[in-house]
Amino acid sequence: MIRLQHLLGGRWVDGEGEGTLLRDPATAIPIASTSAVGIDVAEPIDWARRVGGAQLRAMTFVERAELLSSFADKLREQRPSYYDAVLANMGANKRDAAYDIDGAIAVLRYYASLGRVLGDRRTLMEPGTDQMTRSEDFRVAHLLTPRHGIAIGINAFNFPAWGMFEKVATATLAGMPSLAKPATQTALVAYLMVRDLYDANLVPEGVLSLLTAGGRELVELVEEEDTLAFTGSADTALMLRSNRTLLARGARFNAEADSLNAILALPDLSESSPSVDSLIDSVLTEMTIKAGQKCTAIRRVVVPLHLVESVTDRLVARLSSLKIGDARNPSVDMGPLVSRSQQEAVIAGAALLAQEGKTVLGGAGSIKFVDVDPQVAAVVAPTLIQISEPGSAKLVHELEVFGPCVAVIGYRGLDEGIDLVRRGRGSLVATVVTDDDAAFAQSALSLGSLHGRIAHLTHDGAADNPGHGVVMPQGIHGGPGRAGGGEELGGLRALNFYHQRTAIQARVPVLEALRKLSAELG
Ligand code: NAP
Repeated sequence: MIRLQHLLGGRWVDGEGEGTLLRDPATAIPIASTSAVGIDVAEPIDWARRVGGAQLRAMTFVERAELLSSFADKLREQRPSYYDAVLANMGANKRDAAYDIDGAIAVLRYYASLGRVLGDRRTLMEPGTDQMTRSEDFRVAHLLTPRHGIAIGINAFNFPAWGMFEKVATATLAGMPSLAKPATQTALVAYLMVRDLYDANLVPEGVLSLLTAGGRELVELVEEEDTLAFTGSADTALMLRSNRTLLARGARFNAEADSLNAILALPDLSESSPSVDSLIDSVLTEMTIKAGQKCTAIRRVVVPLHLVESVTDRLVARLSSLKIGDARNPSVDMGPLVSRSQQEAVIAGAALLAQEGKTVLGGAGSIKFVDVDPQVAAVVAPTLIQISEPGSAKLVHELEVFGPCVAVIGYRGLDEGIDLVRRGRGSLVATVVTDDDAAFAQSALSLGSLHGRIAHLTHDGAADNPGHGVVMPQGIHGGPGRAGGGEELGGLRALNFYHQRTAIQARVPVLEALRKLSAELG
């Protein structure tokens, strides 16, 4: 059994006692353990702020880019061991694990490429200046300097690798050292990755720290120039963002929380439209990849009344043919959830949603699982619920069931369809399926204020579309309202979170000198 340690103060340290056991969700066999009991976090964080911050600020964007690139190369080299770890710790097959592992490598490479474009400079300045008074000569410009704190990244259990490195990549490029805290129950791959980077001497002192358990004190330790980027449930996000120390010190906080993402079919589609085939494919993908444990997964399928029965029947037919069980068996399409507690939560959540409609697929005993003992494995059958009274159903827009559970909801007119999607009260992503480009544009305007991302799905364009649930670093990730109100990624926009923007008021020659200094030396 592997013992996960913590990288703090530049060395590996271990907590006291047995700690938390990490289990294989297909067999319930313990595979690793970690403990944070007796670990001092305050002093190592302070050290990382000083030592790691100074190291990164002394590096140019090109040098930071090379660092990210070296991380990506090393992780790529070790990839097979990460697939094994994710299979053992999360029950995920290679296809599902790739979203996390290859996603982590891809986001490091993407930010490395942006860093190379920023060049041999250490700080940024926004282009242009603005006149403030009658004088043409005394103007304001905006300077961006990296914050002299630590970038704390707390991550959810479903993306231990990508979740960690999308935060580390952006903070590092901006010039801030990171402390990564993966969710304890799935921390194995995060530990192995950081260990490999460290053992290969790729981590400059203080630039990356790791805490594989605990972390409850982190929010109390934040200082004015720190950032806390959280990904996880809305409840934990609320608890952290309302912390008195965080608020009093004005440290930056970003939340990526849960979301009732929808796919909306517009009324121009008929049962035989090829774009409805793409809708069915998309729902299938979103329900089964990582067994539906994706913050961006589709939870609500909102279709015009004339499509409700055919979409439901087609989904039932496709889902019924899936093989579910231990992903070590290559014939298995969908592995287990990450733990028995997630299994309990998904079964309980699906039962609550079922009160608002008819369960057309799913429920206990609806499936024969492959190569697992259902008494110990965290397996669940896919659940499809048809909502009977769309006008009055509430829970389906409020309760995130974090597994392979989807509700089909019918609408009469498009206004009602848009209203149903907006009842999610803020989502990470919505997909709109229509062959009418103008209607897509109109729906994007109607849905935009409550969504972080909106994708257009058509049969013709499906091959070019990365997919409803796939987060690409070129676009922003995050959503308003219940999705946390945060924003990550989106190219260079991501660096804003780690920079202080300062309005510099001075005479034009002074601003020009500052711009030159910022470009040359930082
Ligand atoms: P969670 O229970 O809120 O935990 C998330 C992280 O917070 C874990 O690392 C957890 O550590 C840590 N944590 C909990 N209490 C803490 C505290 N008081 N101080 C510091 N850290 C604390 O969420 P989860 O069950 O792991 O993740 C599932 C949820 O995440 C879903 O709702 C999903 O929608 C959401 N999610 C959102 C996104 C997004 O990008 N928007 C991405 C992925 C997942 P321990 O593991 O040690 O408890």
